[in-house]
Amino acid sequence: MDYVTSLIRDIPDFPKPGVTFKDITPVLADSQALKTLVDALAEPYKDQGISKVAGIEARGFTLATPVADRLGAGFIPMRKPGKLPWKTVREDYSLEYGADALEIHTDAAEPGERILIVDDVIATGGTAAAAVRLLRGVNADVVGFSVFIELVFLDGVSKLNGVPVNALVRYD
Ligand code: AMP
Repeated sequence: MDYVTSLIRDIPDFPKPGVTFKDITPVLADSQALKTLVDALAEPYKDQGISKVAGIEARGFTLATPVADRLGAGFIPMRKPGKLPWKTVREDYSLEYGADALEIHTDAAEPGERILIVDDVIATGGTAAAAVRLLRGVNADVVGFSVFIELVFLDGVSKLNGVPVNALVRYD
C-alpha cells in the first residue's frame, strides 16, 4: 500500500479555497497500484456473503465495480438525481463543499441482501451516511463501508450509524 499511497496527488484549493482534493487518478492509471488497491478494498469481505457492492457516483464506480467482480457479487450504482432511468428513491445530504443528493433504483437490492458500499474518499461522511440510509430504506443489510482514503479530522465515520469501515489510508 505504500506505493499506492505515494501516488495520491494533493490538489490545494480544489474545487474551492480551503479544500485539499485527494486526486486518485495517478493510482487508477497505474496497473499495479490499481490491482493492489482493489484487492485491499475487497479482502476483508471475501467470506462475508456479500451479494452486491454499491458504488457512489462517480469515482466510487471505478472502484466498486472491480471490487464486486473480486467478490463474485453484483454492482449497484448510487447516482446523482435524475440520472437513473427507472423508479428511484432519494436521500439528500451535505458535502465538505456543498449539498447534493443520491438515488438508487427501488429494486436495487432485495430485503435482507448483504451489501458492501465502496467509495474513494470519506470526508464529512454525509455522502456515505446518505448511501447507508438509501440501502437501509429498501431493507438491505449494509455489511460494511470500504474506502480508499479517510480524512480523519472531518470525523465522517461517526455518521455511519455503526456500519464498520475499512479505510486503507487515513489522514489526520
Ligand atoms: P463527504 O460526504 O464529505 O464524506 O464527501 C465524500 C465524497 O466527496 C466522496 O464521494 C469523495 O469523492 C468526495 N470528496 C470529498 N472531499 C474530498 C477530498 N478532499 N478529496 C477528494 N474527494 C473528496
